[in-house]
Amino acid sequence: MFFSAIIVAGGKGKRFGTKEPKQFLSLAKKKMFVWSILAFKKVKECRQIILVVPEYKLPEMEKYKKLYNIDVVPGGKERYDSVKNGLKCVKENIDFVAVHDAARPLVTSEPIKEVFSSAVKYGGAIAASPAKDSIKFSKDGKFISNSIDRKNIWQAQTPQIFKIDLLKRVYSKKISKNVTDDAQLMEKIKSKVALVDCGYENFKVTQKIDFKLAELILQRR
Ligand code: C5P
Repeated sequence: MFFSAIIVAGGKGKRFGTKEPKQFLSLAKKKMFVWSILAFKKVKECRQIILVVPEYKLPEMEKYKKLYNIDVVPGGKERYDSVKNGLKCVKENIDFVAVHDAARPLVTSEPIKEVFSSAVKYGGAIAASPAKDSIKFSKDGKFISNSIDRKNIWQAQTPQIFKIDLLKRVYSKKISKNVTDDAQLMEKIKSKVALVDCGYENFKVTQKIDFKLAELILQRR
C-alpha cells in the first residue's frame, strides 16, 4: 500500500501578521514547509509529495522541486480549494492520500506511519490529541452556556489520511463554507475516520508564541 502526501502551504497567514506567509519563513534554519517535506520523505510508503503554494510563489519553488523531488501546484482561495488542486496531481496506482498542513512543521515520520496504518485498517484516520482543558460552550462568545465533557473532545491535527476514492468523492461534492479539515468532509458521507492520539508536539503554528516554541523544539532535536 502506498500513499501520496499533499502538503498545503497555500494560505496567506493573515492571523500571523507577517507580510511573508508564515510557512515560508525561516524556522530553525529551514523554511517552515521544508520540515514537513523531510518528515514525509522518511516514510517509505510515501511515493509522492505534492506541495500546494500560493500562485505567486511558483517560480520560487522551482529550486525545491528539484532539491526534494516533489510536485508543486498552485493553491486556491480556501484550504479546501488548495487540497482539491493537490488531488488533481496525484499519480496513478496510489491507494491513499495524506493531507498535511505546512503550518505543522513538528510532524515526524512516527505519527505519519501510525496514522497511515490506521487509515489502511479503517479507510480513514487522522492525527489528533485529547482535550486537556475544561471545555465550555458559549452561544454569544461572552458568557458560558454550558460545559462539555472533555472525555469526548479531540483536537484534530494533520496528517489526515484517507483511501483515495473516498477523498476524491468528498472533494467532488459541492460544499458549504467553513470546512477547516478533510475529516469534516467525511462526515457528510458517513465514512468512518479513526482518531490516532499523536500527543501535543505536532501543534499548528498560528501565533508568534507557537513559532518560538517550534523553533526551540526543532533546534533541540
Ligand atoms: O488557516 P489554517 O491555519 O487553518 O491553514 C491550515 C493550512 O492550510 C496551512 O498550512 C495553510 O497554508 C493551508 N492553506 C492553503 N490554502 C488556503 C488556506 C490555507 O493551503 N487557501
